[in-house]
Amino acid sequence: MNIRVGFGYDVHVFAANRELWLGGVRIQHTCGLQGHSDADVLIHALCDAILGAANLRDIGFHFPDTSAAFENIDSKILLADTMRLLRERGYEFVNADCTLCTEEPKINPHIPAMQACLTAVMEIPEDRISIKATTSEKVGFVGRKEGIAAYASVLICKNP
Ligand SMILES: [Zn+2]
Repeated sequence: MNIRVGFGYDVHVFAANRELWLGGVRIQHTCGLQGHSDADVLIHALCDAILGAANLRDIGFHFPDTSAAFENIDSKILLADTMRLLRERGYEFVNADCTLCTEEPKINPHIPAMQACLTAVMEIPEDRISIKATTSEKVGFVGRKEGIAAYASVLICKNP
């Protein structure tokens, strides 16, 4: 079995009058994240890890934020498209391990819904996506509640 690893990282800053979307799920909060799309930082890190594993550049290469076509787009569409690119090249997704880094809101209560949503979009079993949450211990931009960072590691395989 030919296996490959990928890694993704993304950051979005908090912004007033925006909905907060994380892992494909809308979360009630006092503010959302700034971005050209819906700013789903977790999906963006996951897409970058998938693309990286397959050596397919990055999310900005395939879905440029200068394109009106992607303005306020639901990031689940980008994720589905990323999976299509992966499968077109003969790869299968094995698993992902993701971490959201933020001081607020509390992420843990939303993790099962995020896992269900992402795995449905990706057409894979629910246990293939791990989502973890941590804070930044009040230091740095995450610690000052300026934004949310997300990290993702992905494994893909190609059967000979
Ligand atoms: Zn992003």
